[in-house]
Amino acid sequence: MVDAELCDRVISCGSRGSHVLPRLIRLDAAVTGRHAAWMNLLLLRNAQVYAPEPLGLQHLLLGGGCILWMGAQLADLPAALSVETIDLQGRRLIPGLIDAHVHATGGGGEAGFRTRVPPQGISRFTRAGITTVVGLLGTDDVARGPRDLLATVYALREEGLSALAFTGGYHVPPQTLTGSVRGDLVFIEALIGIGEVAISDHRSSQPTLDELMRLAADAHVAGLMTGKAGVLHLHLGDGLRGLDLVRQALEKSELPPRVFHPTHVNRRKGLFDEALALTAGGCTIDLTAFPVEEGEDAWSAADALLRYLDSGAHAERITVSSDAGGCLPTFDANGHVCKMGVGESGALLDTLNEVVARGVPLERALPSFTQNPARLLRLAAKGYIGVGADADLVALDSAGAAHDVIARGVVHVRDGRIKHHGMFEDAST
Ligand code: ZN
Repeated sequence: MVDAELCDRVISCGSRGSHVLPRLIRLDAAVTGRHAAWMNLLLLRNAQVYAPEPLGLQHLLLGGGCILWMGAQLADLPAALSVETIDLQGRRLIPGLIDAHVHATGGGGEAGFRTRVPPQGISRFTRAGITTVVGLLGTDDVARGPRDLLATVYALREEGLSALAFTGGYHVPPQTLTGSVRGDLVFIEALIGIGEVAISDHRSSQPTLDELMRLAADAHVAGLMTGKAGVLHLHLGDGLRGLDLVRQALEKSELPPRVFHPTHVNRRKGLFDEALALTAGGCTIDLTAFPVEEGEDAWSAADALLRYLDSGAHAERITVSSDAGGCLPTFDANGHVCKMGVGESGALLDTLNEVVARGVPLERALPSFTQNPARLLRLAAKGYIGVGADADLVALDSAGAAHDVIARGVVHVRDGRIKHHGMFEDAST
């Protein structure tokens, strides 16, 4: 149900007075927001539910952005409820993926201003089965800042995604909105942790142990005060110091290991071994689903996840993220960029499918993309399928692609086709 008055409003873009016609955009983005979710009841029939644990064939009633009911037997519903029905015909239904490392504003900037990556629209996430993102800043936390990041996160929310952010960026002292990272986390609802703070990287500000411990303490205390994640999300570079600072911080302070969430730990095989050892002490580590070339001293996210699951380590202490929107530069020995790529949201679902294709049951592979990040980030209604959970759901086709995607009870992808594009996305793509 779309407010007719809202639909009738249009804005014009383009250069007035030139020969280029202005592009008219319907201002109907609100259809994807709270209004539609609260007004409509949606019945999903015949879903093969992986919650992540397999629950067999189920029917689900969605309303108010949540899962209201789920059961194997479906009674007739009163016609007066005017429930929209989608028959999933036995497709696998999984929780919406949670991507805890997204350059929502676009990252980059390492090789000049032209290498700043533009922001990506909501459909780049939804078509990839991602319904929750955590935005962050990386190398460029000067030309970009927390205001820009928060505005981008709030825009994604208006378009129907669940979106949060970390405060700060690569560098120390971190960029903040309120003057302190603790203040940002305590007073700004969408900010849930600090990151990505760079260590063991030539682009970092080479933080000392004391500086790192102070940041981790601020994240931890703000987490206690607010019930938010309160994590220090750490970018790991290629440097051979690896996770040494984290090990020292854990040895020399009272900080709980859960506060440290190192990412990109599969970028070097030795680093992955260090990270694996850290999980025994209580840290959760994050794999990045970036492309890995033949012969490279790195594990792909799929390789690393398989190794992790086979190692007997705590299954809940690993997450996978995409680095979407971040640039993926290759540096030469002098620190010059010689090649550039961009992280893609689709890499998460590709990784999940690869791990399943290599013999891991879906219910064992799924938690790293759903339940585990939800637990670490303290998102109580996310990461699982059950009554009371947010209605963030992905129906997979037989090839593992996102056939239907529902975010907060609103259908964003149906039969593999995007139903809601972002305000400035080209709907023909
Ligand atoms: Zn990074």
